[in-house]
Amino acid sequence: MLGDLLRQKGYRLVEFGDETDLLVLNTCSVTESAEKDCRYAVRKTLRHSPQAFVALTGCYAQTGAALLQSIPGVDLIVGTEYKMKLPDYLPAPGRLKKRPAPELQHSRTIGRDDFVLPGTAYSDSTRALLKIQDGCDFMCSFCQIPFARGRERSRVLSDVLREARDLTAAGYRELVLTGVNIGRYRHEGATLVDLLGQLEAVPGVTRIRISSIEPTTVTDDLLEHMARSSTICRYLHVPLQSGDDQILEAMNRRYSLRDFETMMERALELMPDAGFGTDLLVGFPGEDDEAFERTREAAARLPFSYFHVFSYSERPGTAAAKLDAALSPSTVQRRRQLLTELSRSKNLAFSQLHIGRRLPVLFEKGTRRGLRTGTAGNFLRVAVANERELAGTIQDVTITGIMDGLAVGALLSPASQKIRTPLAMVAL
Ligand code: SF4
Repeated sequence: MLGDLLRQKGYRLVEFGDETDLLVLNTCSVTESAEKDCRYAVRKTLRHSPQAFVALTGCYAQTGAALLQSIPGVDLIVGTEYKMKLPDYLPAPGRLKKRPAPELQHSRTIGRDDFVLPGTAYSDSTRALLKIQDGCDFMCSFCQIPFARGRERSRVLSDVLREARDLTAAGYRELVLTGVNIGRYRHEGATLVDLLGQLEAVPGVTRIRISSIEPTTVTDDLLEHMARSSTICRYLHVPLQSGDDQILEAMNRRYSLRDFETMMERALELMPDAGFGTDLLVGFPGEDDEAFERTREAAARLPFSYFHVFSYSERPGTAAAKLDAALSPSTVQRRRQLLTELSRSKNLAFSQLHIGRRLPVLFEKGTRRGLRTGTAGNFLRVAVANERELAGTIQDVTITGIMDGLAVGALLSPASQKIRTPLAMVAL
């Protein structure tokens, strides 16, 4: 969306790594390594474009503004509250000039009102990200996001529908609903389920995907609505974080392992063909061998098709930062590796489960080893051999085998749908 606003201001977007006059970096502060990545991106850009004006925004710009001011070459730092106004703080294209010291547009507090977003977030993909919510009130003890993004607030429903119409008209076949805690969407009494209902009615909307959603916000209402819908993808990415109830409590998560299992059982009862992903956090202070084993066992037993495994890193200002009992880096690394390998084998088993089945697949641009690739509604990654471009089309595919971590299949009928390629846009 920032890219769209910059384009309107007269900038031409280039790929990251190319020579440029302006670097706008949307920073992340989820882990320590995300912060390092940010510093590296600034250094790398200034190496090939020493005159580039450097503007930083995003979570790290909010929580680490003082530190970022000390990075040589930074010209502008814009906190979360003013992020969408960033283009207004830039000189006109052609008049960019490096500054002796960075300008700071930052406020300690972040507004709590529902919001509208200017422009439309065109992406270089067949899927479009549609932001519906921001901020979080949950205060998990390891997480800095409530400080970086502020309290929970929702996007005005009519504005979400406006962008959905723009994206659909531009040819996107899948809308991915994003936000920090999207299950908490509420605008003038409308819930996530109400919003989904209205999005499904937008002419041309083919697929809607719910991105990561907190387990306690996956209500029966939501699951029943998903099960009835032919538009909403039957896939849920629900962060479990740990399989040990004591660790979950110390993390200030709002559920026990049993609660999580009940939610999954209900989802599978209504949608036996659904896919599930999760996030697991290893190395939280006090995670002893038994606690980790409970996580490993739950991750192995529950029907996840894939996990994101994160290593705990202490974030300044969080409740967990005050806890002792830090684990050795080698233990954390070993646990992370174990779960990552488990995720790979579960993903393979999930793919194998689909051999002989027929699924509608949305194809992406490009090829992998000469094969056209795409995703099914339950997030199964599928590849087919086909000479014709399939990007942006949904095709019925029969899965015939597995290759290189992908389910391989054959098109049921020759590709016949009209190809509608989305607008090309370089991501910042
Ligand atoms: S729910 Fe997610 S964003 Fe909110 S505090 Fe917990 S981990 Fe952070």
